This record gives sequence, structure tokens and C-alpha cells, in this order.
Amino acid sequence: MISRKNFLKISALGGLFPFQDWASSSHSFSGKIKKPIVISTWRHGVKANNAAWKVLNEGGSALDAVETGVRVTEADSEVRTVGYGGRPDRDGFVTLDACIMDEQQECGSVGAIQHIMHPISVARKVKENSPHVMLVGQGAVDFALDQGFKKKDLLTEKSRKEWEQWKKNANYEPKVNIENHDTIGMLALDSEGNLSGACTTSGMAWKMHGRIGDSPLIGSGLYVDNEVGAASGTGVGEEIIRVCGSHLVVENMRRGDSPEQACKNAVERIVANKDTLENTQVGFIAISKQGQVGGYSIQQGFNYAVHDDTDNQLIDSKYLV
Ligand code: ASP
Repeated sequence: MISRKNFLKISALGGLFPFQDWASSSHSFSGKIKKPIVISTWRHGVKANNAAWKVLNEGGSALDAVETGVRVTEADSEVRTVGYGGRPDRDGFVTLDACIMDEQQECGSVGAIQHIMHPISVARKVKENSPHVMLVGQGAVDFALDQGFKKKDLLTEKSRKEWEQWKKNANYEPKVNIENHDTIGMLALDSEGNLSGACTTSGMAWKMHGRIGDSPLIGSGLYVDNEVGAASGTGVGEEIIRVCGSHLVVENMRRGDSPEQACKNAVERIVANKDTLENTQVGFIAISKQGQVGGYSIQQGFNYAVHDDTDNQLIDSKYLV
């Protein structure tokens, strides 16, 4: 366990992290705008990026790309942390959170929505067809049905069995990087040079019924500023919310940080407020207006996928401890 005090002490000594090159960014900026490009969180981002890239490569918008991309993950029952097949809350309900934001800073969001396979598309409808930014719970479901979405039981047999097993002890102990908190956040820069982002999740497994994490909160799970860049977060949502994580990352970039440095600074802000980091994982990804990308996490194990015109790579994030 690394306490906050120890972390600060060790940091002050310098050289704690010989395995890291603080100055470098994972995709360095060559002076030429790199577009289109898409970045998304975790291993499932590779598949999602392929769908997003198809849209971008055909000249489509970043907004369409991110919606199309994360829908792949939402529909994949093997991804147990997003959409269909996601692990339920402690009462056995699969409740989903999602948000989307475009280059005009128009945004839409749904929280704790049930029975709808593609919360990201409902979030987009909230953005486009409602006077609001966020709808939650039954209101979000009613809106979705009104918009033509169909109801579906999202609790798969696998997730139900796991939940039955969990109920035997009913301990809420989120495990770092163990498929417990693998939201997909996706950020894209299209060939017009516009940025958009999407974020969608089933949230922390075994959460309290009604809990909403960072993922549908504009500024926490996702933020886009078309002049500067965009960011998305994953991990323990409560930690991300406390520092308005994605907004913080974008503001760091506005002040001149590279995407990686901006993510690192946000991670450090979270760590500075904590007495212990045990079981706390948070990772951020970011993209600049120039198409530079980067990520950073508290602990080892976070990765992100980047698709540009050369390849679709899964990159191990740099980390703090
Ligand atoms: N950030 C999400 C939440 O707290 C979890 C995740 O990243 O999967 O709900």
C-alpha cells in the first residue's frame, strides 16, 4: 500500500520512476496535424476503433465515428463492463451510464438507464431532440422508448451467475484492472479537424442501485473543447468526479501540456487527495486539436487503443505507482 505521505516523500526525492520517461508523449507532435485519428480506452477499444475508423476514413464526422465505435462495445456481451452483458448492481439490475459531446460543445447524457442496448445513441438523442443535457432512470427509459428504441433484457446468463456468486458474501471490493471498471471512452479528430467524444459504461459492478459514476457526467467522464482537445476517464468514478477529471485534462492542455502530461497532472491531482491508493485505479486518455494523443493512469494495467492512418495499436499507458 502506498500512502499519500509516502508518495509525496518519494516524489520529492525524484527518480522514483526510472521506468518512465516523463518528458515523452506516446505519440509525439511532429508539427503537422495528424487527422483523422481516434483513441479509446482499454483493449476493447481496438475493435471499437475499427468501426470508428471506417466512418472517419470515409470522411465522416468525429461525432458519428465515436457513436459508431462505442456501439460495438455496447453490443458485445463478452465485454462485461459496458452495455449488454455488463455486470449488474448489487440488486441485480444492469444500469448504464453514457454521454456524448461534439465540437460545438453540444452534449447529451443518460444515467442509470435500464433495458436499452445503446445508451450512447439515447445520449445523442437527448442532445439533439430534447431541451436538456441529461436524463436519468425511468425518465431516460421513457425518452428512449419515445424515440423508437426497443427494450431488451441486458442481464446475460454469465453476469447473472456471477452476481448470484457475489451475493454469497456481498462485499463491495472493486478490484484494480480486473474487468470491473473498464468503461469505453472514445475521442476522435475527423478530417475536417473537428473533435468529438463518447463515453459509455455499466459502471462499477455491484454498485448501489441508483449510483451514477463519472461516465455520463460532462467534465468528469468526458470533455471536448474543439479549440484545445478532448479527454475521457475510466476507473473509480467517484475519484474522477472529485476533480472534474476530463475537464481538468483539457484545461491542462489549454495551458500547454501535451495530452500525456495533461493526463498525468490530473492523475497526480487525484493521488494528492488520497491517503491510500489501494484498489484505486483511474486512467485518462486525451487528444489535442493537432491530433497528438496520450494517456496516463494511477496504476499499471491501463491501456488504450489508437487508430491513425498507419495502424490500430494497443498502447500500455504510463502510470504513477
Ligand atoms: N468510471 C466508471 C464508473 O465509475 C467505471 C469504469 O471506468 O468502468 O462507473
